[in-house]
Amino acid sequence: MSLNRKITLLLGAFALGILVTVGAISLYAFRSFSIVSSTAHVKTAAEIVRVYLTESMINGVIDKREQGLNRLSEVYNLRTARVVRSDFVNRQFGPGLSREMVADPIEARVLADGKARFEVDEKDGAPLFRGTVPYIASARGEPNCLQCHAVEEGTVLGVVTIELSLADLRRRGAFEALAVVLAVSLISVLAIVWARRLILPVGDTAAAIGEVVQRALQGDFKGRISQRTRDDIGQIAAHMNRMLAFVDQGLSQISERVSQLTGRPPHCEENQLQATIDMVENLTDATRFKATIEEDEAKTEIYERFGRLLAERFGVCEYSIYEVNAMDDGSPGLVTIAVDGVIGGACRWCDPQILLRSDLCRARRSGHPVDGLLQPGICLAFQPAETDGVTRRHHCLPIIQSGTVGSVIQLVTSAAEAPLLQERLAFLHVYLREMAPVLEAKRLTETLRDSSLRDAMTGLHNRRFLEEYIDTLVRSARRRDSRLVLLMLDLDYFKMVNDTYGHDVGDTVLNGLAGVLQESVRASDILVRFGGEEFLIVLQDAVPEDAVKVAEKIRHRVGEFKFQIADGVLQKTISIGVAVFPDDSETFWQVLKYADVALYRAKETGRDRVVRFTADMWKPGTDLF
Ligand code: GH3
Ligand code: MG
Ligand code: MG
Repeated sequence: MSLNRKITLLLGAFALGILVTVGAISLYAFRSFSIVSSTAHVKTAAEIVRVYLTESMINGVIDKREQGLNRLSEVYNLRTARVVRSDFVNRQFGPGLSREMVADPIEARVLADGKARFEVDEKDGAPLFRGTVPYIASARGEPNCLQCHAVEEGTVLGVVTIELSLADLRRRGAFEALAVVLAVSLISVLAIVWARRLILPVGDTAAAIGEVVQRALQGDFKGRISQRTRDDIGQIAAHMNRMLAFVDQGLSQISERVSQLTGRPPHCEENQLQATIDMVENLTDATRFKATIEEDEAKTEIYERFGRLLAERFGVCEYSIYEVNAMDDGSPGLVTIAVDGVIGGACRWCDPQILLRSDLCRARRSGHPVDGLLQPGICLAFQPAETDGVTRRHHCLPIIQSGTVGSVIQLVTSAAEAPLLQERLAFLHVYLREMAPVLEAKRLTETLRDSSLRDAMTGLHNRRFLEEYIDTLVRSARRRDSRLVLLMLDLDYFKMVNDTYGHDVGDTVLNGLAGVLQESVRASDILVRFGGEEFLIVLQDAVPEDAVKVAEKIRHRVGEFKFQIADGVLQKTISIGVAVFPDDSETFWQVLKYADVALYRAKETGRDRVVRFTADMWKPGTDLF
């Protein structure tokens, strides 16, 4: 119930209470007054009758008393005036008239005890006031009772019963009570109207405050309260308006700046405050995310964390993370980093051709987000591998690193949930913006690290790489219970190339040899420039019997290969030593030494040959590298 209504009801109830009280008091007062007044009238009339009877006695016309008493009925409102004689009077003067006999018990009681009695009597709806007053013998005055009556002072000589009509008095009383009630009603109504006029602005202001607060809770602080009075209530409205304007302005500024940071414009129908809180929370979380990934060691860790974020915060469990990598021919290719939470998972949502021909990936090619949520079919490469009856949409976001697309994040969702994802994209962009520089920094670090593990001239792994990687390699071989075949290679009479054609030609030959070797081994094999013109090949999962065949194949290829030099072509032979881990030794470095020993044996025995290490070649005490 509104305040105004409550106040009106309260005032109404109060006025009604006053009205009823005043009415009741008026009626009670009138009744008391009419009884007191009638009693006085009856006593006066009784006194007049007494004087009349005394005078009649003195003047000797007491016999005519009935006529006089009858005429009393002519007096306005006086219905009856009847005198009753006591036995004392009858005894002294003989019996009176028949009308002067005791007529009822009241008269008898008054005659007996000399006490006047008064009562209101409703006769046939006509109210009467009846009084029965005793005449008591008294010696006071001149003449007095005892001069005629032979009785003692205080003797009840008779009574007079007088009945007065109250009808007229009551009518007047009712009229006056009504007038009082009307007056009070009028005053009450005027008081209510006046009080309402005073109090209504309070209620209206309270209602207006309620409305603007309701709007404020919806994030709309544009509501204002009209200032109806100049009193405290008006002040409250003015203060409230100032506060609303301040909050509104502040919120708009915060919202605008936060929108600029998130790139998400405020929607007019949303709760501006809640949206701003969400955006600030998101920015804070994104900053925290950045701080966390900055301390991650490798890019894969960052991608893994981002994948978890996609699933947990954005509800995206189907996604691909691609990284752009230079292929052998230098053109950019894509590698899957993570797919649906699986690190290095298979390409599931796109045509796998994009891995080799990254131009097919629209986001990689254009460097712009590809919105398949709003424009399904925008990228032809989006080809979900499984059709489980759910229509899917995608949204691909390129991450720019060093001015080019370094990675592509592909979000996949059902068509039904596409609008929800669309709504969350702005927040996702915030995370990507935070992630991009960290990824770039990690990429640079990894590139630098990678370069320290590679030989600058040939691009092959160097000896340091071997030292770092060897433990992993050995553990893996032991786990798989497989062997590692080590081929130690050295060009024959290479010094002569340098001496004859110069160092540059020597370098050309070494680079050419690196190419030949690379083409001769599988991707899983490890090719290391061990030093100078010595190379090491570690063949994984190779059968020892085939190892010599592989070495022979390499030797043959190198021998056939025509190194292009300024003066024409050059052909060189190569010697190869072969040893097998763990067949020859349980220690990798020992096996490496054995391969080297075998290589020397190849050199010693005429070069351009492959020598498999045998125990007899090893003289104990020989130093390892
Ligand atoms: P052998 O058949 O016994 O191996 O005879 P060789 O002449 O090849 O002798 P050796 O293997 O000892 O020769 C090593 C030479 O390789 C010495 C060095 O000048 C040359 N060399 C080492 N590293 C490089 C390089 O990076 N570039 C060039 N051009 N020459 C190198
Ligand atoms: Mg050599
Ligand atoms: Mg050498």
